[in-house]
This record gives sequence, C-alpha cells and structure tokens, in this order.
Amino acid sequence: MSHDYKFEGWLGKDKESAKGNMVWGDFPHVKPFEETDVDIQITHCGICGSDVHTLSSGWGPTTYPCCVGHEIVGKAVRVGSKVERGIKVGDRVGVGAQNSSCLKPDCEGCSDKLENYCQHIVTTFGDKYPDGSITYGGYADYHRCPSHFVFKIPDGIASEDAAPMLCGGVTLYSPLVVNGCGPGKKVGM
Ligand SMILES: [Zn+2]
Ligand SMILES: [Zn+2]
Repeated sequence: MSHDYKFEGWLGKDKESAKGNMVWGDFPHVKPFEETDVDIQITHCGICGSDVHTLSSGWGPTTYPCCVGHEIVGKAVRVGSKVERGIKVGDRVGVGAQNSSCLKPDCEGCSDKLENYCQHIVTTFGDKYPDGSITYGGYADYHRCPSHFVFKIPDGIASEDAAPMLCGGVTLYSPLVVNGCGPGKKVGM
C-alpha cells in the first residue's frame, strides 16, 4: 500500500477558532514514522470538552496551529515491523487522549501499566515529542501514533460508539472498575 497520503485536517489558528473558525490545512511537523508506529486513516472522531478548552487556550496558551480530537477510530493503513498487540494493516483501531509515554522499566507509571501517570506523557494533540515533532488530533484524515497506545476495536462495537469510549467513556468506566462498583452499589459521577 502506498504511503503518500497527506496529514491534514481542521486547524485552529488562534483562540477564536473554537467559535467555528477552524480551517483545513497541512500538519507541518508530523512525527517521522518509526517501526513501532501505526498510521490510521480516520473514519470517526468523538468531540470532547477538552477540544474546546484547547482551541480557546482555556488551559493556558495553546501552540497554534492545533488540530484537536482525541477519540479517534479508523483503519490501520501502515504498521511498523515492531508494533504491539499484532496490529495489522486493515484492522479497525482506536486512539484516546494519550499518544506516548517513556515506557522505560524504571518508570513507576509505565512499569505498572499506568502510563497515564508517566512524567513524560505526549498527548494526542497540541503536544510535542522529544524530537520536536508535534501531535495532531483526529479532526483529520490520518493520525500517526506509537502502537502502544493504539487499540483494536472489537467487531461488535460500531465505530461511532467506540470513538467516545476512548476518552469520555474510559474516564467513567475506569473508576467504576477500580473501585469495585457493581450491582446494588450507589455511584456518583
Ligand atoms: Zn477527552
Ligand atoms: Zn514512563
């Protein structure tokens, strides 16, 4: 399969972009492909409140141009020789809010499979890899991500249902599991 697709999408260029003013454009500093990476042709992307906060610089200054969207589902179109979980070209896959972490054995978070507690997280949009390349989110045609943070979507789940589970969904589901919630218990969210 040819890999000459372009990385482009809806870009916020300033704070006002959150008011319906995103513009379609190229992603200037996409991560160079590594053998642990997966390229995803995006078919679906959820909309999260964080998208609006980021576009409007509501969590401190955003580096523009920024393409938001971190509930991404699509088709794997390029996989490196060292990808995890046996992801293959053609698989339906998803990515949530995190693109990378250090994955070092001496990192408390990463070695406990709690990569979200790593001190070297790279988030799915508006963030920077150690080499200076930038992450661009899912309001786009393609997304490149280390396979450690790419998940196969089970056949029984429609893509439009799977996408919002990758941030909003897991944010609610995880504490229910961690706190042992189940039938008959009262919960608050
Ligand atoms: Zn989110
Ligand atoms: Zn780490």
